[in-house]
Amino acid sequence: MVFLSLFLGLLLMTVSENDAAERIEALVIPHSHMDVGWVYTVQESMHAYASNVYSSVVEELSRVKGRKFIAVEQEFFRLWWVNVATDWHKKQVRQLLNEGRLEFIIGGQVMHDEAVTDVDDAILQLTEGHGFLYETFGVRPRFGWHVDPFGASATTPVLFALAGFDAHLISRIDYDLKDDMQKNKKLQFVWRGSPSLKEKQEIFTHTMDQFSYCTPSYLPFSNRSGFYWNGVALFPDPPKDGVYPNMSLPVTKETLELYAQTMVENIKQRAQWFRTSHVLWPWGCDKQFFNASVQFTNMDALMNYINAHSDKYGVTVQYATLQDYFQTVHQTNLSWDVRGNQDFLPYSTEPFQAWTGFYGSRNVLKGVARRASSLLYAAESLFTRYRISFPEGPVQREWALDKLKTLRWAVSEVQHHDGITGTESPKVADMYMEHLMQGMMGAEELLAAIFLLPQTVSNDINHTPQTRSTTVKTNSVNVLEQHVIVYNPLAWNVSTYINISVAYAMAVVLDDDGKAVPSQIQQSMESSTAYDLFFVVELGGLQYRKYIVQFPQLPCDTGSVCGAAHAARVVRFEKKNVSQWKRTGRKLLPVLNECYKLMFDQETNLLHSITDRREKMRVRVQQDFWEYEANGDVHSGPISDNYIFTANGSAIPAYKSVAMEIVPGKVVSEIRQYFYREEEDEKHTYSVVTRVPLGFKGRLACFRLEQSYKVGPLEMNRETVFRTRTSLKNNRTLFTDNNGYQMMKRTHKTFVNNTVARNYYPMVRAAYIEDDSSRVVFLSERAHGVASLSQGQLEVMLHRRLWNNQEWNLGYNLTLNDSSVVRPVLWMMLGSPSALSSLYQQEALELQHRPVVMPIDQPQKQWNPRGFVQPVVLPQNLHMQTLSIPGWSYSPDHTQHLHSLNSGGETNSEMDFDRILLRITHLYEEGEDPVLSQPTVINLKEVMRGIGEVTQVQERSLTGTWIKSELKRWSWKTNESVLKGEQTDFFSSTTQDFNVTIYPKEIRTFFIYFK
Ligand SMILES: [Zn+2]
Repeated sequence: MVFLSLFLGLLLMTVSENDAAERIEALVIPHSHMDVGWVYTVQESMHAYASNVYSSVVEELSRVKGRKFIAVEQEFFRLWWVNVATDWHKKQVRQLLNEGRLEFIIGGQVMHDEAVTDVDDAILQLTEGHGFLYETFGVRPRFGWHVDPFGASATTPVLFALAGFDAHLISRIDYDLKDDMQKNKKLQFVWRGSPSLKEKQEIFTHTMDQFSYCTPSYLPFSNRSGFYWNGVALFPDPPKDGVYPNMSLPVTKETLELYAQTMVENIKQRAQWFRTSHVLWPWGCDKQFFNASVQFTNMDALMNYINAHSDKYGVTVQYATLQDYFQTVHQTNLSWDVRGNQDFLPYSTEPFQAWTGFYGSRNVLKGVARRASSLLYAAESLFTRYRISFPEGPVQREWALDKLKTLRWAVSEVQHHDGITGTESPKVADMYMEHLMQGMMGAEELLAAIFLLPQTVSNDINHTPQTRSTTVKTNSVNVLEQHVIVYNPLAWNVSTYINISVAYAMAVVLDDDGKAVPSQIQQSMESSTAYDLFFVVELGGLQYRKYIVQFPQLPCDTGSVCGAAHAARVVRFEKKNVSQWKRTGRKLLPVLNECYKLMFDQETNLLHSITDRREKMRVRVQQDFWEYEANGDVHSGPISDNYIFTANGSAIPAYKSVAMEIVPGKVVSEIRQYFYREEEDEKHTYSVVTRVPLGFKGRLACFRLEQSYKVGPLEMNRETVFRTRTSLKNNRTLFTDNNGYQMMKRTHKTFVNNTVARNYYPMVRAAYIEDDSSRVVFLSERAHGVASLSQGQLEVMLHRRLWNNQEWNLGYNLTLNDSSVVRPVLWMMLGSPSALSSLYQQEALELQHRPVVMPIDQPQKQWNPRGFVQPVVLPQNLHMQTLSIPGWSYSPDHTQHLHSLNSGGETNSEMDFDRILLRITHLYEEGEDPVLSQPTVINLKEVMRGIGEVTQVQERSLTGTWIKSELKRWSWKTNESVLKGEQTDFFSSTTQDFNVTIYPKEIRTFFIYFK
């Protein structure tokens, strides 16, 4: 998406011709920024312009030798390649790639958002695009081009370095910072995005100047916009006569000199901001080059003219790809400043334009995107296990891969910077949601097939497995029962509780050995005819088990001996009005587990304090809902919208009274708090349920206080936050994560204007506050905005509903009138900083990848609990980030792959079902924990033994396209004279012992093969 400021154009005329001492070389990079969604759906965009971009660009490049183009978003390219391109187009594309005139940049399915995406999903979408490009063309993208994401994360440069990129490019950073960098010629630097990986994964980074990725939109001699001779894309249909709105004046004898002057002035102005005499001149903008013929014809004439008068102008111009530009800069051999692991978040364009609203926009979509991602994660590892154990099993492999590919595509797509950000129009949000839902349904069909079909082929496999069944079978002794399969997708042993909704008030839960497991049943909060059944599950890494839930019709006389679920009773407390609070902190009600004592204040029905029982440390904690009232009238001040959060004053408490219920239990104790907007309201406005797990002493689950919120539909122009106020002395310093990969320290800053909004940060997986003795951590299963605005406080923005009368917002339907009800979940942990720093990373992943629970009919196959599900367990500090069968057909050997492409091998090569993609990541930073931060050696053969016998391992680049040992990235000179460390020892198949040492924060990628 694009905002063009007209005043930028006016600056053009202030620079005189004599400023440049040496001849300036402008590299004109033709590009089209094609949002994969935003205002229009992918299908609408393909029809109106995207398809024409590739057809007409390929035709125009084929016609005239010197022309070039960079292709960015792969989703559009792939749709064009598969559905539109003719054989001639395809042949030309290969030719243009060979000549280096067409270049794939980034290579991901989309240009992913950097603030609210999870690192796993960023890797997924990059891998998805790279896999296609490498398989189809043998090309491996080498440059970043993150021109539009709203702020830049320090994780992205690390991922791009790991993927083999030689340089990176960003654009949207804070306006005052950019001003500064521009003035001081510091827009280019070498970025070390990870404090642990440091120079090993550094990358040269170019920040676009104030003109950003669009060509200047202002022409001093014409009231039409910039260098866009093909005008503006027309929706829904392209015009029949090829005449688009707002086509700029053609380059003719009359306009040639005027155009040349304008372009040259602009080039010279930009040259002042860079250390070399080369100017990256992006030529294009959103939705450009759908009529490449008129674009190039005009620009050819203009460039020829400037070059013919280069002595006069002091400038030469040439078409270039991004590689041409970076190569030129690299060859200067200059030394560059080093930037540490600071990111560029949040991002403001003006004093009142803080782009921190989108951290919380469309909370439902953000939640579904993450759920889809974790379902994909589970389905990938389960299918991999199945394939290795039963290569000839009845779950058809092409069918299975098809289901996985659909979900990979949908999860990749929504990572777009107008996707998961929530900055799209309602119909585009619906499109993402539909693709995600379809993908998830397919993955569930796959899981069901794996769980339910017999493991070997028989004649009787034509039935469709039934899942999600609520029908309850009655067995011979007349006991109602239901089967539940639970899969742990993490490569760690997990001990936790799960929750299913049932229709009976009594239950017995048995594991697959027939042993009763601890369980608890209680009246559901949502419905008077439903019950919540909680039971404890113990699962090895990547293991699944079946549990049988029986519903006896009579109570068991012998009580707990028969293993019946503990029937928990709901205790209701009188509703308390804020106006009547008097003696707070006197009558406290404790709720305990083995790790914590929570105290609730009976005067307020709010949380009062939490004691860490291990360390005997008490922290005052109060939690409640607050609201910001947004301004919707552009004439009376700055507004809030999809992108922007403008706190119009301070937040105010969103309730006048609070009711509470406590359900003391044996598996969980539940505290339900209901917040009423007005004292006399019958229905509550907000609720939070806190679950305190019981019986998990010494295990991770003991430390988690699970909170589920119910928020919405909101009143118009409200932004709702859940505030936690503590006795911690954090000086408003907050720690938030970059994409779940690393933590950033956020010191509170005071600004002349807009201080609240500019102190908001994205939380993807984790955020915490701390002082010398205590830390309070929040973990999240979807992204939110988060801030610490006063001492000891942390607030999470859970939901936003907005409307404003700004023309631009109304025109595109981007006001965020989101009337949905959202139900996000946070896990809260409390303890000493040192105790929690060893726990929260693993805990965050346990939240993201909670066990997959699948209620089923009785399976058709004989259930063998000791079947193929042996556990796979990694050390606590290592996470199995990926275990999947990508289905790529290319040879892992580059030379062989190119040879096969050149001999037309692409069309008849088959998907490889034996190549397994494995990623293992170290969760800790150097020095973060005395034990867990250590480099860790694992033997891949041993670790994977639960799945099968590993015969071969090859280390690859992040997205699989390079053999690690063959990857030689450009090195860039820096002003810091550190001895450049060697790349961390890579693991090659020539190492026969299968041992690999994984260092802090490394993400290691392998192809592995099983016997
Ligand atoms: Zn965009």
